[in-house]
Amino acid sequence: MRRLWLLGWLALAVPLRAQDGGGDVPLPTDEITEADRAAIRAELAANRTAHGIPEPSAQAGKTQAVAFAWPLTLPPSIPDLGLATVSAHYDHDRTTGVTQDFACGTRTYDQHEGTDFAPWPFPVLRMQQNETQIVAAVAGTIVGKRDGNFDLNCSAVAGAQWNAVYVQHDDGSVAWYGHMKSGSLTPKTVGERVALGELLGIVGSSGRSTGPHLHLEVYDPSGNLIDPYAGSCNRLNGQTSWWAAQEPYSNPRLHAVRTGSAAPVVRTCPNPEQPNEKRSFAPNEAIVFSAYFRDQAAGDEIRWRVIGPDGQPATVRHSDGTPMSEWTHAPSSGGRSTHWYYTRYLPADAPTGQWRVEITYKDQFLTRTFAVGEPLASDDDRRLDEAMGTLYPNPFAETATLRATLAPGLRVRVEAFDLIGRRAALLFNGRAGGEGTLTLDTRSLAPGAYVLHIATDRATTTRLGVRR
Ligand SMILES: [Zn+2]
Repeated sequence: MRRLWLLGWLALAVPLRAQDGGGDVPLPTDEITEADRAAIRAELAANRTAHGIPEPSAQAGKTQAVAFAWPLTLPPSIPDLGLATVSAHYDHDRTTGVTQDFACGTRTYDQHEGTDFAPWPFPVLRMQQNETQIVAAVAGTIVGKRDGNFDLNCSAVAGAQWNAVYVQHDDGSVAWYGHMKSGSLTPKTVGERVALGELLGIVGSSGRSTGPHLHLEVYDPSGNLIDPYAGSCNRLNGQTSWWAAQEPYSNPRLHAVRTGSAAPVVRTCPNPEQPNEKRSFAPNEAIVFSAYFRDQAAGDEIRWRVIGPDGQPATVRHSDGTPMSEWTHAPSSGGRSTHWYYTRYLPADAPTGQWRVEITYKDQFLTRTFAVGEPLASDDDRRLDEAMGTLYPNPFAETATLRATLAPGLRVRVEAFDLIGRRAALLFNGRAGGEGTLTLDTRSLAPGAYVLHIATDRATTTRLGVRR
């Protein structure tokens, strides 16, 4: 039994070929000079005076210390599990040339005075598309804004100024959100409140920054810099975490999975990355599966499975010709922001329809749909297909019922087509009933097999049915 299991595993563990690859990418860094910081403090002090915002120290002790939430989010239309790596912490060893983070490790760079969050994957592309959103990690009052500075630096350009939003919390502490995209800042002005999770701007690379990232810098009510991460080498606030839930020091996460026509090009600052994404393929065609990770360690297992239109494992070919429907890859290297991709080939007899690839990494699971021999169904179509239940009875006589979990009152049209595509009858044209069900009038159909086209204003799907 043990030997069988081993053989099974060996059959799945596939070596990378020339058309496969990946690895990690360099992480962005920044520089904020003491002169910059002095200018910002002066600006915030002037804003408080002008807008009647209390001095931070006046608030000290009035409320409990703040608890930070994650400061980045993606629009809900993007189906990824994660979007950024914590690329650098505060450097607690202030000796030039020596680095130490809060946990006594080296996830920082020399003299860094904040926490850096680096979008992954596609940082420049997502900046262009306004996708990596910076949100208020704690509610508070806008105490400063700076906008209009060039926002796509790829090196620490001397004298470059950033775009930023500064938020003063109700306990008097202040968070600086820096390097934003020009023109992306919240329209709210100094003195206005922002809620927890409210959009502040888009991640950019303004100021002395080597690539798009968020620099979060936090001050306590007395104006002392703090590091939100509690740890034994945190020389600022020691074991006091400023996070609502401080994540593990190393936090391996599966961020995204894609299908494509070619290997993704992942590092191109200042040009946008090239995902080379493709989601509709023909039989015999190459298909590149790629996945994106945070804090992935060497040897971590990544498991892949390809599922065909019938919901069962479907065969693709490795570049050496080996047929497979699943494989496991344990990369020999890791990193803070990594990606791995694999070229596979669809067989000549690949069934037409909507396929998906599944990826499992530790306790995380993600799928991505793609189409073979037909257009990719839209997300709306997939949702309708999932909501639309079975046809009952089937075969049917003078009526049939589509049992569905549609919103009652949704406008739906159902038409029957014969198997060579000729329209045979309109079976339903109205609103879904109270249970979301549709009662179809099938009296006019001659005996035979039909494809029922089901359409709402936004989506379509089909069911097969047989008239007795
Ligand atoms: Zn930074």
